[in-house]
Amino acid sequence: MRPKTKSTFVLHNPSEILRALVGLKDVRILAYERRGPHVELMIERILNDVLCARCGSPARVKERPIVSYVDLPVYGTPMALAWKKHRLCCVNPECPTGSWVFEDHRIAAKDCLLTTRAAKWATVQVGAGRTVSEVAQELACDWHTVNDAVTTYGEALLAADHKRLNRTSAIGLDETSFVRFSRRRQNYATTVADVQNHQIIDILPTRDTHDVARWLSARPTDWKERIEFGALDMSPAYAAVYSVVLPEVTQVVDSFHAIQLANRCVDTVRRRVQNEQKGHRGRKHDPLYQVRRTLLTGEEKLSDDARERLMSSLELGDPHGEVVIAYMIKERLRDFYQLNDVDAARAMLSEIQHHCLKPAMPPEVQQLGRTIRTWFDKICNYHLARVSNGPTEALNNLIKRIKRIGFGFRNFRNYRIRALLYAGKPNWRVLDSIVVH
Ligand SMILES: [Zn+2]
Repeated sequence: MRPKTKSTFVLHNPSEILRALVGLKDVRILAYERRGPHVELMIERILNDVLCARCGSPARVKERPIVSYVDLPVYGTPMALAWKKHRLCCVNPECPTGSWVFEDHRIAAKDCLLTTRAAKWATVQVGAGRTVSEVAQELACDWHTVNDAVTTYGEALLAADHKRLNRTSAIGLDETSFVRFSRRRQNYATTVADVQNHQIIDILPTRDTHDVARWLSARPTDWKERIEFGALDMSPAYAAVYSVVLPEVTQVVDSFHAIQLANRCVDTVRRRVQNEQKGHRGRKHDPLYQVRRTLLTGEEKLSDDARERLMSSLELGDPHGEVVIAYMIKERLRDFYQLNDVDAARAMLSEIQHHCLKPAMPPEVQQLGRTIRTWFDKICNYHLARVSNGPTEALNNLIKRIKRIGFGFRNFRNYRIRALLYAGKPNWRVLDSIVVH
């Protein structure tokens, strides 16, 4: 078939454009055509002596189907690659082999709607934190096309990258809710992170003690033996995992979770006091509602204005000083994390705990005190881990990043691949050599 002449560019130097656009040996450009905002490049694979895989007889061309692929944009123009393929059949009339299409993974993998280079590019983009829809928009194709390609190449990369995991002395287990099929049902995943190398090790589709324990005990012995610290939220399930599988490991409650708990306490007290004072939930002009975010901000981060507004709002909306109590305890707990001395930290947490548990304290604060009492040693171990360079702080940022990715995911497989590409530190150089057939 001759290339269409209408709106087809004449190529003065096809091989040069080929190098720029495809760069593959034995690939020939047939046409280069502009269609509205898109440019379509038609190519074919040059075949030399293809033989039947079953009997070794020569193959002959039966059909030339044209299959269209999404390619990388060139200078911002979306590109489509039309591959004029060869459907071949065996010349031997006795041979039972049916016809087959000649594939070339360098151009595009079978069943992938992106060209190989576009698929790898998309995988890198998503790994860098861009959303699938952004990438799809840039490639002028739909979400599923990009998502399928990223999943395929991402899984292949993670499987091929044997050196992805680093040696570590500190891991963390964290629960992430990633699916909400309905209002009533929410699914949970467990993120296993290497908090020393700021890297996600894996994501498990469960938060069940037995499942997580089984996964952890299946890791190589030398890897497990190196672990000194195990970070966790205040969940008995993960504490049990460590106690059963890695009993020697020092368990550390992550500071992020402890402060989150104190913040939640402030918020609960604020809501209750608000309700008692006004008889309704917070509204725009209610003093306590106006400072709901300021209350959760670190005191040292407040401007003089913000601090003044906070004081006057509390004077108006918190006549018995209950919000103030919760707020001060939250700030005290934040101070606890600033300490450098293990013994001083222990003494301070003990003081916070006793203060919370006083009968005159608001019920929410007493509840916080009971939680601190339950997790006391593991909260204090934060300082032990810090002294011995066990990085617990790092987990916070990692988790925040993962949560951002996890938001809105309905499909665990998608979520896992996305999170591992983004925060699992794959060796991107391995992607070049990935072959998906
Ligand atoms: Zn044959």
